[in-house]
Amino acid sequence: MLYNTLSRRKEEFVPYNPPRVGLYVCGPTVYGDPHLGHARPAITFDLLFRYLSQQGYKVRYVRNITDVGHLEHDADEGEDKIEKKAKLEQLEPMEIAQYYTDRYHKYMEQLGVNPPSIEPRASGHIIEQIELIKKILEAGYAYESNGSIYFDVEAYDRKFHYGKLSGRVLEEMMSNTRELDGQGDKRNPYDFALWKKASPEHIMRWPSPWSDGFPGWHLECSAMSMKYLGERFDIHGGGMDLMFPHHECEIAQSTAACGHDAARYWIHNNMITINGQKMGKSLGNFITLEEMFTGKHKLLEQAYSPMTIRFFILQAHYRSTLDFSNEALQAAEKGLDRLMKAMETLDKIKPAAATTVDIDDLEKRYREAMDDDLNSPMVISALFDWVRIINQLHDGSQSITADDLARLKTLMHTIVFEVLGLRDEKAAGAAGGNDLVTPLVNMLLEMRMQAKAAKDWATSDRIRDGLTAIGIRVKDRKDGCDWEIE
Ligand code: ZN
Repeated sequence: MLYNTLSRRKEEFVPYNPPRVGLYVCGPTVYGDPHLGHARPAITFDLLFRYLSQQGYKVRYVRNITDVGHLEHDADEGEDKIEKKAKLEQLEPMEIAQYYTDRYHKYMEQLGVNPPSIEPRASGHIIEQIELIKKILEAGYAYESNGSIYFDVEAYDRKFHYGKLSGRVLEEMMSNTRELDGQGDKRNPYDFALWKKASPEHIMRWPSPWSDGFPGWHLECSAMSMKYLGERFDIHGGGMDLMFPHHECEIAQSTAACGHDAARYWIHNNMITINGQKMGKSLGNFITLEEMFTGKHKLLEQAYSPMTIRFFILQAHYRSTLDFSNEALQAAEKGLDRLMKAMETLDKIKPAAATTVDIDDLEKRYREAMDDDLNSPMVISALFDWVRIINQLHDGSQSITADDLARLKTLMHTIVFEVLGLRDEKAAGAAGGNDLVTPLVNMLLEMRMQAKAAKDWATSDRIRDGLTAIGIRVKDRKDGCDWEIE
């Protein structure tokens, strides 16, 4: 079984026309403000979604919202985190879930993360989850205990392998574990809840054949991926921290119900660290996206824009750990600025009679890197070689024909804006989100050229000074002028 690789992707997908891809990614649990830990999986799978779509695949991307049944400690024990907050703030649990879902959407938009095709909520799929529990019960891999239903891991492991994704073996897990306190109604500490009977004070509850209660956390992903992508689909993604137990339990549930795995490939993004340490509330290095974008956190020397964060994440391979530090973020900010300046320079290159650069090289390096397990750092390294070449095309030490220039522009736009999903924040910010700056500045500078030709120095200076006053610096050259946003 192949996991964590895309290398044999094309041959293995179900051959529809246009070729279709089913992609399921575990989404956020909505009881707290979106933080850096949300940014990495969202951007990783956005890159995959964008690249596959750009390659002509019709992708159905399902990313869920966990708005029910996520308990403290592990999936079965403790207090529901949404409920805990709701009680503290005297709100309906769904008000909490809605508030943080909206916040999540807002920050994802700022990070350039495209919305998925379907974003199902766990609380909206209780019926599907109950039906799935019935199937697992019928197949003999679950049991009822005091109104709760548990997955029978031992019975499952006799026929299948519980732990195959993370390379665990049940016997070893059991011998390494002391008898857990609070095992409660479970026969075995490794059994996990499919349905939990609600205690009297539990607010989020639904009727079921077994009790008024709520579904176990792992169940929603099996039920919703099955509903929207079928019993078999192509790619399942999520953070590495979800591999065990969450994804292992998903595999067990789907296999128990259908007799086979649901996902053909699993892709896990690695974790982020802050100054070399795991991020955690107790360590005082827990940084929300709002704190990141405003710089209001004791560990941050400055604010970092959403695109700086996105670029920083894309500069590392998704399977490597990624360490956030001020130094590394500032380097990413500079790198992104150079790249965006080159994108502006691209519009100022004048075509020539011959081409002295090899555009095929850029296209080849981009495709090979992306096809090699989404190697975005290699793509960025190719782009930086081309930043240098674009500057050479602009200063005249290399040349390009009009047709090749058009092709280069299209390719650079596809890679930088469509696939990597980057945005020129300075230009977009100056124009209130629309790139009106470039044509407007070019028009004014043309008028300035005409004024200069007519020796109307007062108008020429007025245009230049006016642009300087709003942060656009004009640099005169022999055959015209350049400009940049400061
Ligand atoms: Zn999940």
